Amino acid sequence: MKILVPVKRVVDYNVKVRVKSDGTGVETAGVKMSMNPFDEIGIEEAVRLKEKGVATEIVAVSMGVAACAETIRTALAMGADRGILVETDADLQPLAVAKLMKALVDKEQPGLVILGKQAIDDDMSATGQMLAALLGWAQGTFASKVTVDGDKMEVIREVDGGLETVSLNLPAIITTDLRLNEPRYASLPNIMKARKKPIDNVKPEDLGVDVTPRLTVVSVAEPPKRQAGVKVGSVAELVAKLRTEAKVI
Ligand code: AMP
Repeated sequence: MKILVPVKRVVDYNVKVRVKSDGTGVETAGVKMSMNPFDEIGIEEAVRLKEKGVATEIVAVSMGVAACAETIRTALAMGADRGILVETDADLQPLAVAKLMKALVDKEQPGLVILGKQAIDDDMSATGQMLAALLGWAQGTFASKVTVDGDKMEVIREVDGGLETVSLNLPAIITTDLRLNEPRYASLPNIMKARKKPIDNVKPEDLGVDVTPRLTVVSVAEPPKRQAGVKVGSVAELVAKLRTEAKVI
């Protein structure tokens, strides 16, 4: 079984995100970029399925500017076999990514696509669900455990207040939750080997997809600054402050 894993290049999760001064988005110039953490979990899960003999080939796909090739290289160093870069300078929204992925699925015929449950930059949490709808495939979203058995798969999903187990027919779409696995670090030999693995470069036009944005971002703003707290000496002082200063009791 072939597995496709989309990997998005996002602002590194350790970086404090800053809003651009004109409020049109977040600053990415000169900022450290990395693979979306949920996509690292996706690659790790695909590699584990290959190690178990369930998967035969793992294809990492990234969409966006030319530098997304670095994100694919990271996936190749973690164990993916080859990459596809869908190169564009356009602002790609989830529907466009889902349509591009559908075109790649039609071409590659994978048995499974493993996406992140959300990209940590825009928190859309929409692409996997849209792709499942476009393909008419089953979806196991927010997966915390995945077991493939022949042409079926069992997915344990993290839902509010508990876990839900669903059974899906393959081919299917999975989106990863945080507890699915702990991604491995790429070893130096594997980083070297990854340099020789192939990356195909295609453009949205080659896949016949119009990626024109459907949503307009009106403004992006930083959250309001929190005021520093104060320490009180006693419960009586706390009650007095709540009554006279905060006026909440
Ligand atoms: P989102 O719906 O934007 O929160 O993204 C969910 C998932 O879709 C991500 O974790 C990726 O697996 C995939 N994805 C979204 N945008 C891209 C992109 N530009 N390139 C590759 N994968 C993407």
